[in-house]
Amino acid sequence: MSSLIEHPHPKERRIVFENAGKSDYTPDIENYLAHGGYVEARKAFTMTPEAIVNEVKASNLRGRGGAAFPTGVKWGFIRRDDGKPHYLCVNGDESEPGTFKDRYILHRDPHQLLEGMIITCFALNIHLAYIYVRCEYTHAKEIMEKAIQEARDRGFLGKNIFGTGFDLDVYFHEGAGAYICGEETSLLESLEGKRPYPRIKPPYFPAVLGLYMAPTIVNNVETICHVKHILRLGSAEYAAMGTPGDGGTRVLCVSGDVMKPGPYELAVGSVTLGELIFDICGGLRPGRSLKAVIPGGSSSKVLRANEIFKIKAKADDGTIIDKEVPLLDMVMDATSVAAAGSMIGSAGVIVMDDSRNMLWALNNLNQFYAHESCGQCTPCREGVLWMSKLSTRMIAEGTQESDSATLHNIADHIAGRTVCAFGEAASWPTQSFIDKFPEEFGVQIAHQ
Ligand code: SF4
Repeated sequence: MSSLIEHPHPKERRIVFENAGKSDYTPDIENYLAHGGYVEARKAFTMTPEAIVNEVKASNLRGRGGAAFPTGVKWGFIRRDDGKPHYLCVNGDESEPGTFKDRYILHRDPHQLLEGMIITCFALNIHLAYIYVRCEYTHAKEIMEKAIQEARDRGFLGKNIFGTGFDLDVYFHEGAGAYICGEETSLLESLEGKRPYPRIKPPYFPAVLGLYMAPTIVNNVETICHVKHILRLGSAEYAAMGTPGDGGTRVLCVSGDVMKPGPYELAVGSVTLGELIFDICGGLRPGRSLKAVIPGGSSSKVLRANEIFKIKAKADDGTIIDKEVPLLDMVMDATSVAAAGSMIGSAGVIVMDDSRNMLWALNNLNQFYAHESCGQCTPCREGVLWMSKLSTRMIAEGTQESDSATLHNIADHIAGRTVCAFGEAASWPTQSFIDKFPEEFGVQIAHQ
């Protein structure tokens, strides 16, 4: 985790990572309190729940787990006075390849997450909350359970927290390590002790029919941590850090062929892809040139280094025109990455230089998705395995002329025909790798 502890780059704006990035910071409650911990949780109880929800709405905070749904809007689906139990489930599964931000919070600043959960639960009349984390994060259980006990001992969790009359219990739940448990309805099935088959939406939107069929908010670890800072800074200041409709900061996880990979917390929309790679991350390895970037975790569509995309922009005379933007000038926010034909997703930025073989890279992803399909629906269960077998054979035995068309055709018949978004997640790499690098999927000799 050394990349986070080093001195931050001047362009970084550490809010969620402020404590986690200090080399002398330890994740105990005394240290957290000494760094301003639980101030905003206490403040929340001086506000009305409606005022907290309105602050989160006005902050323009979007979910940091992948879908980028406006958090305040999601919270607005919960009716505090409907007489039903409500639940909060914090999604710390973090299974998207290329994404590695939540574990820094879980391991290094667990009380920040608990404070965000307390504020959220008070705002939404929730008295029981869970933190769901994959078992591969081996120390998270030990650290989070210690933090939960410390908060209980101080009266910050349990009965009558902070002497306010509000009760809240928090439990840590360790998942078994399946990628699909990062999907919110699958996570709920897993929490209920069942096989984690995703539920069909509609009708099983968690805010309506969630955990134990009760209204449930599922939010990502980083998302919940931002709530404290919205109350600390005020929604206007928090929103102003980002772009219209996408406020605050977000952590970009950069991996692959850069000199300084790591998680970087930046104001939303404050850097371009070129600045991220060549300034903040120290550029590429010596003698290499940029070949491709996967901008938002392995499920997002790959982008070719030399491609140019179009955005709508205002001309000098006020008319709206199509403006051409080279990929390296792409602003790293949800809107711009979508305009380039991909998505910011979980902000796992995977950088590939000219040493990378795209067929090999795609096969790596296909094998991952074939392993992780939950098997509930046929197009995904069968199709993803076919893609994996075919790309594996293309590497081992050489590519035949019809292979890339067959591979693309399988992907086309998975996306949009499945119970959950895994179908798209598994298809988009194949579709985009072939579309963007057709020369690497033509007739070839075997690579071995
Ligand atoms: Fe399971 Fe795949 Fe169907 Fe999702 S799309 S429910 S992961 S089989």
